[in-house]
Amino acid sequence: MSLLGAIEAGGTKFVVAVSETDNPEKIVARESFPTEDGEQTLKKVIAFFDQYEDIDAIGIASFGPIDVKPESATYGYVLDTPKRGWSGFDFLGTMKAWRDIPYYWTTDVNGAGWAEYVSGAAKDVENVVYLTVGTGVGAGIIVNGELLTGYSHPEAGHIMMQKHPDDQYEGLCPFHGDRCLEGLTAGPAMEARWGQSAKDLPDDHPAWEMEAFYLAQAAMTYTATLRPNMIIFGGGVPHREILIPMIRKSFEEQMNNYLAVPPMDQYIQTVQNGDNAGILGCFYLAKTLVK
Ligand code: ZN
Repeated sequence: MSLLGAIEAGGTKFVVAVSETDNPEKIVARESFPTEDGEQTLKKVIAFFDQYEDIDAIGIASFGPIDVKPESATYGYVLDTPKRGWSGFDFLGTMKAWRDIPYYWTTDVNGAGWAEYVSGAAKDVENVVYLTVGTGVGAGIIVNGELLTGYSHPEAGHIMMQKHPDDQYEGLCPFHGDRCLEGLTAGPAMEARWGQSAKDLPDDHPAWEMEAFYLAQAAMTYTATLRPNMIIFGGGVPHREILIPMIRKSFEEQMNNYLAVPPMDQYIQTVQNGDNAGILGCFYLAKTLVK
């Protein structure tokens, strides 16, 4: 039986898995372990895949920043990151040296976004923005059925923001302080602003209205620039059920009837693939490489 491989490479946890090439949703085996430095972690990844002879292709969805430019000398590398033992690590090269099969190399958000496109909330549309709001804020953008990659992968978590009138918080982005989306809305920014973790903030806390204001503002920017069919919010923060309806309401207020968009309950959505999105995306991307 021929298999597909998945490596969901997170900053705190790695998930590796294999599924059937003819049926990527059928997961044959799956393992996860804490992320150590590059070398130690990839040893565990390789030990897992060593058990399987018939792997057609492997999808890798990695935390970033990573080099995704095929013509670059450091293509396949993890770029400068505060994570110890990863800056300048040749992730893809290490895998190719182990076994020279096709690899789909992309960002973690592209992986999860692609899963939503193939079998989740966005499976019937061709233009999607998938935004994850967790430890950081990142986006996978699908345009006409393909992941958008220009000079490099998008970093749509760092778009500039107009501050909420009641927000005194100085922001958490090391590059942009309180001027960008990530600096104002990521989980650690919420915790620093309000003095408690987002998951402990009650539903009636003003934090959620402010969070919705910023995420709606981001949705407005993506709407104006990309005109997608759907915007999906994933990651830890949008787990809060009250948030999506609040984003829809704020979006309509801020858009002020300027642009027509699909009905709000279809246009602004949350993920459907849940915790499997990361590895499913890897399988689906790997499958695109199998002739
Ligand atoms: Zn920033």
